Parts: sequence; structure tokens; C-alpha cells
Amino acid sequence: MTNSVVIIGAGFAGLGAAIRLRQNGIEDFVIVERDSAVGGTWRDNTYPGAACDIPSLLYSFSFAQNPDWPQGYSGSHDILGYIEWMVEKFDLRRFIQFNTEVTALSFDEAAGVWSIATAEGKTFTSVSVIMAQGPLSNASLPPIRGLDTYTGKTIHSARWDHDYDPTGKRVAVIGTGASAVQIIPELVKTAAQVKVFQRTPGWVLPRLQYHTPEWNKRLYRQFPFTQSVARKGVFWAHEFMALGLVWPTAMTTALQGLSRLQLRRQVKDQWMRRQLTPRFTAGCKRLLVTNDYYPALAKENCKLITWPIATLCPNGIRTADGIEHHVDAIVFATGFDVCKTGTPFPVTGLNGRSLGEEWSTGAYAYKSTSVAGYPNLYLTFGPNSGPGHNSALVYMEAQIDYAVRAIRTLNRWNLKYLDVRDDAQRRFNEGIQQRLAKTTCNSGCRSWYLTDDGFNATMYPGFATQYLKQMAELHHPDYHAVQKATQ
Ligand SMILES: Cc1cc2nc3c(=O)[nH]c(=O)nc-3n(C[C@H](O)[C@H](O)[C@H](O)COP(=O)(O)OP(=O)(O)OC[C@H]3O[C@@H](n4cnc5c(N)ncnc54)[C@H](O)[C@@H]3O)c2cc1C
Repeated sequence: MTNSVVIIGAGFAGLGAAIRLRQNGIEDFVIVERDSAVGGTWRDNTYPGAACDIPSLLYSFSFAQNPDWPQGYSGSHDILGYIEWMVEKFDLRRFIQFNTEVTALSFDEAAGVWSIATAEGKTFTSVSVIMAQGPLSNASLPPIRGLDTYTGKTIHSARWDHDYDPTGKRVAVIGTGASAVQIIPELVKTAAQVKVFQRTPGWVLPRLQYHTPEWNKRLYRQFPFTQSVARKGVFWAHEFMALGLVWPTAMTTALQGLSRLQLRRQVKDQWMRRQLTPRFTAGCKRLLVTNDYYPALAKENCKLITWPIATLCPNGIRTADGIEHHVDAIVFATGFDVCKTGTPFPVTGLNGRSLGEEWSTGAYAYKSTSVAGYPNLYLTFGPNSGPGHNSALVYMEAQIDYAVRAIRTLNRWNLKYLDVRDDAQRRFNEGIQQRLAKTTCNSGCRSWYLTDDGFNATMYPGFATQYLKQMAELHHPDYHAVQKATQ
């Protein structure tokens, strides 16, 4: 049976797409999920302290608002609860094929359908495909020498082993990014010693956390428009931050000043402050939002190590100064294998063209969702859709609605396929790259936003409002619309 749509992945993007398809009367779709549960990022990242850096009012879908968020910024447990609530509320479970991993996509031009191969040997066919396999779903270990010689416990932040008790243990944490700054304050509470191996310090801003009072939840429940208004307020506050985080401006200097102030207040040791002061423009790498990280580092049982790691050895970690740090466990808070070049699995389009080959030096697309030569294929979190200052879900919602609009157009006009024009895609990307050149994320630091040779295939160079405007229109002249053959 040929489905109207196959969605790859049951994280926020895949489930959001399913909800919007259903709300638009499209029911013949399947969600293919390689794991045995929904939730994606928030199913996998359950490390101690795991939480979102964006307030829940905005890190949630506008079409599925939750009046009961217990606090401003939610932990992974509450976010996963929200995702599971959505699955039940919108009756999505019956559309999901769990334990099914997509291994290849190929488009049959004559039939106008995609063939979706899976590791389990099942094949699905569909007119359209929504790729929602997530940008950060594959945990990555750094290429450190001696990785397999270490004999103690190893844990990746995205695959936390809850059976391991760090109480009284000597623990090393490699990495000082967004996950590490959440894990370290939890570890120092019980571990005998925590050694933090830092390569580059990041800019840290305070988190304005609060507990939602009962009256507030009642208000949102009884008058849902009040929650929409609050959401808008949080949205515009983040849009304002773009002025300092997306482009290097006087506000960037002010944000860096605020971060330095937090560092001065929370870390008394001058030498340590020096080690923790970033040497790049704020916004060039992901901003860290926490009140607990610096106080944790300043604790007696915590030590910041800034010497580069030379190798792992059977008992721990040897740094470039020749010191061997003996530890019982190593936590890798080293992030994800982000697909900036190539594709996570082979994708074959018109005339046998391979998306992996076309993206071998960096991914690009039209409006981050369509790629010329790959008809009826829609990406979520595609090239240049990353926000540095706002909620990923705001962008995701726009991508989902764009895909649903295209799928409805296909049905309404009884088309075989829609394929974005090469020239429209080229023009679009020239504009994106020109705009990126003026942004903080292209200001010279090394980050996971860039490929090894400095191509930015990740970030969107503007306000979320500009992104939403770009996605609000399916500009028909930018697409080849191929009619079904008449009999
Ligand atoms: C720890 C962490 C914290 C984050 N915090 C924030 C934040 O504060 N603010 C913000 O805006 N964004 C944040 N993000 C980024 C983003 O919002 C989340 O990653 C978001 O959950 C992405 O949703 P997704 O559905 O695109 O991908 P995912 O949640 O990764 O879901 C993808 C799903 O696809 C499945 N899948 C993958 N490959 C295949 C395959 N081949 N076949 C079948 N299924 C497959 C996976 O198992 C997974 O279930 C964070 C990300 C991480 C990892």
C-alpha cells in the first residue's frame, strides 16, 4: 500500500508533523521510529540535570499548549511527559511503527513514489516523505587517543546509565557545553571528586527560573488566550536577544558584560575566572544558560582542568602536562554527530542522483526544507534552520506547516510531484551565505555549526520573525509541478 506520507522519527518534529497532517484531514501516513518509544532527544537525554534552555511556554507547540508546566524552564522528564501527553491527546500511537530504522530512501520517478527501506527488511512506499530524524540524535564520542584502553566506567550524556551511582566516586567530565554545565552541578553533590576537562569556555548567562503558581496554571486552563499572550511575550523577548546574539553589536558587548559579571560574582578565584573567560564573540557558539555551573566549579571537590587531553589510559586521563588523572568514571558530554555534510542514510532522487554526494562538502536546501532533484521530500531541522536565540520548536512548527501546505497542494491539484527549481535553490542559498557572513556564528570561532572547512550549513542568519515570514508562503513559481499522466 502506498501511503500519502511517511514521517521518519517520533521526536518533536515527527509527532508535530503527524498532528498537523491529521488536523488537515490527512490520515494515511506512517511514522517510522527506530527506537521503542517516542520522544527523541528527550527520551535519550535523561542525564542528571537535563533541561531545556528555552522557557516551556515557547519550547512547546502553539497548537498543543500545556497550561500545567511546573516551572519556567522544564527538565527532560517534564518535556518527555508533554510529548507523551501529545501522543495520547492527538491519538498518534496507532500511526507509529516502532523498532524500525530507515536505512535508505529512493524516488521512483515513473511511479512518483518514494521507497523507504528499513534495517528490519520492511519497505514502505509513499508519495511524500518528511525527514524528522533529528539533528542531534546520534551521540558522538570524540576521537581521543586511547579510548579503548580505559578500564573504568564510561557514560555518554545522551545515554545515561541510571544504574551507575557516582556517590563517593572520582568522576571526570569531558566537555563544557550545554549538557556538561547541567550535569556537573548534579555530580558535585555526591561524587567524591569531579574533574572537568575543558577545551574552550563558553559564554554563560543566568537562567531566570521560577515555579509556576497554581493560580497561573488555573488562569491558563480557564483562559487559554492568556497563555498565548504570555507565549508571545517570551517570543519577543527572545527576538530582542537576536540583536546581540545573531549579529555582533553593542548588545553583544553588553551580553558579554553580563556574563562576565555572573562569573565575577560566582567565582572568587582570579586564575579560575581567567580560565573560564571565553575568547570568542558571544553567539559564535551555543550560549550556556545556567546559574549553577560556576558555583559547582568553585566547590572543593571540583577541579577545572584546562590542559589538553593527550590520551586516555587504563586508570583515567593523561593531559598534555604529563599528569595522569585517575578516575572511576568518565562522562562524555561531547555532543552529537551532527550531519553537516552527507546524509544520515542514502537518499536517491531523480535520475539516480545522490543527496549524500551533493552534500559531501556541506548541506544546502531551499528554505531549509526542499532540495532540488528530490521531489516531495521535506526536511525538518534542515540546512540553515538553526536558531541561536529562539526556540527550535518555533522554527520546527514553520517547517512542518510548510511541508503540510505542499502536501495539500499536491493533493488539491492532483500532482505527481513538486520539485524545487535549481535556480531558486541557488539564489536562496547565495542570499543565506551572504547574510551569514555578517553574523556572530561566522565570526571566526570553531563550532559544531560549521563544517571542517568553515561552511555554515546549520544556522539561520536572522530573526525568527524573518524565518516565519519566509516559511509562510509556498512560492509556486519556485517549484516544477509535474502532472500525473492522464489515461
Ligand atoms: C540535550 C539537548 C538539549 C536541547 N535543548 C534545546 C533547547 O534548550 N532549546 C532548543 O530550542 N532546542 C534544544 N535542543 C534541540 C532540539 O530542540 C531538540 O533536539 C528537539 O528535540 C529535536 O526534535 P526532532 O524531532 O527534530 O529530533 P529528535 O528529538 O532527535 O527525534 C528524532 C527521532 O528520530 C529517530 N530516528 C533517527 N534516525 C532514524 C532512522 N534512521 N529511522 C527511524 N527513526 C530514526 C530517533 O530515534 C528520534 O526518536 C536540544 C537538544 C538536545 C540534544
